[in-house]
Amino acid sequence: MGDNGWHPTSPDCECGLRRDVHETLDGYEELLDPYTFTVATVPPDEQWFIAPDGRAVKGGGEDLPADASCRVRHDLVCPLGERPDERWTCLVALWDHYGRRTGLLWHGHRTEAG
Ligand SMILES: [Zn+2]
Repeated sequence: MGDNGWHPTSPDCECGLRRDVHETLDGYEELLDPYTFTVATVPPDEQWFIAPDGRAVKGGGEDLPADASCRVRHDLVCPLGERPDERWTCLVALWDHYGRRTGLLWHGHRTEAG
């Protein structure tokens, strides 16, 4: 508690869902959601791609076909986090779905007391 050391990252999120742990090109770990999106439905600076060696590569800026697939950080759709921006309806839909699945949200509202 309270230290800033680097810890091995658990795939289990506090919300109860599992994340995919991928090493990034600069040696960190990123917790990506297992769900695959098409790039047109995700903000460009939130797009992640999995390289052939399994490492996570942050996208954005490339000319990709609109139907190319990408991943996002689990934090972005975690029901413990903020509701995603309404513009990104697929992110909001998954956040809602996860919220129901985990029992943390009901119709987009927190179910926990207090
Ligand atoms: Zn979560």
